[in-house]
Amino acid sequence: MLNLEDPHSDHIFAAARHLDAIMRFTLHASCTPARFEAIEPVLTALRDLNADHFDRSPLITETLEALTQAIQALCSRSPRVIPVPESDFRLCPFCGSDLYRLHDSTSICCSCHAPIEPLLRTLDHEFGCWMI
Ligand SMILES: [Zn+2]
Repeated sequence: MLNLEDPHSDHIFAAARHLDAIMRFTLHASCTPARFEAIEPVLTALRDLNADHFDRSPLITETLEALTQAIQALCSRSPRVIPVPESDFRLCPFCGSDLYRLHDSTSICCSCHAPIEPLLRTLDHEFGCWMI
């Protein structure tokens, strides 16, 4: 459990908010449309948090670098225009696979999100967000 008395908790909450913003941005990459500039300040905020409050963790630094590249790669792919669905069937705008089995308003498929997911999980663990 996270000790809320500990001032370091604020930094963990901040990291969790930033990681959540990245998750929402990447899962809905086709709605935005995904522009790297839109999420870059969040990546910068995470780098600053790591530098100022997480002893410049090499694993966080390395994972943030990989995440930045994965998001840039996603943003460089143009989503296809897919007509508004008339049923529960929706298609991933990047690869065209069906999203029927996915819940809520996710707009890209697991395969297209696959390069990003494990990096977010690593950062979640390294920043200690799992304790929240
Ligand atoms: Zn896809």
